[in-house]
Amino acid sequence: MSDLKALYQEVILDHNKNPRNFKKMEDADCSVEGYNPLCGDHYTVFLKMDGEVISEIAFQGSGCAISKASASVMSTVLKGKTRAEAEEWFEKFHHLVRGEMKGETGIDELGKLAAFSGVSEFPARVKCAILPWHTMKNAIEMKKETVSTE
Ligand code: ZN
Repeated sequence: MSDLKALYQEVILDHNKNPRNFKKMEDADCSVEGYNPLCGDHYTVFLKMDGEVISEIAFQGSGCAISKASASVMSTVLKGKTRAEAEEWFEKFHHLVRGEMKGETGIDELGKLAAFSGVSEFPARVKCAILPWHTMKNAIEMKKETVSTE
């Protein structure tokens, strides 16, 4: 295994074991449930908005290591970002896990999200990685219906 792959694996293991912002938010402005029936991943994403800015983001639920680590890293990246920035990150992450990264976005500027670049080699895992992001996207658009990857 290359050093880079080992480092990526470490990020995923760490965020799975000690997920950040893993809690219920009682006073969320919006909370949305996301479900991936293929794997059984099931999360709720909570957002608190300050105008256009995500002032708090949290999640709760259960699922595989990839989905939990993805939700955890996502929460650390998006806190303090605007709605528009969050949508941009959603697009970047989508391209990353589908192996469609274009030249203009260097993998280094993705920070910890780059840990999920290997997911593109495992099509069944792409839905696990993307589930929390789809759920967050509905939450920032204040769409409250449950997200399903099916
Ligand atoms: Zn999963």
